[in-house]
Amino acid sequence: MIAVDKRECVGCEECLHVCPTEAIIMKNEKAEIIQHKCDQCERCIPACPVKAIKIVYTQLI
Ligand code: SF4
Ligand code: SF4
Repeated sequence: MIAVDKRECVGCEECLHVCPTEAIIMKNEKAEIIQHKCDQCERCIPACPVKAIKIVYTQLI
C-alpha cells in the first residue's frame, strides 16, 4: 500500500494535486491516504518534494 510518513510530511499539498482519485486528504496539516480510494498508481510518490510518501509492503500470511 501507499502511505505518508507523517514525521516527514511538510504539508505542502503537492500530492493532493496529482492524485487522480482524490485519495489524499489533509489532516492536522499532514497528508493522509484514504486507502479504499487509492488505486496504487504511485503518482504521488515522485510529486512529494520531501519523499514522505512510501510504498509499504505488508506481509501476507
Ligand atoms: S498512489 Fe495514486 S491513487 Fe494512491 S494516493 Fe497516490 S496518487 Fe492517489
Ligand atoms: S507532497 Fe509530501 S510533503 Fe507535501 S503534503 Fe504530500 S506527503 Fe506531505
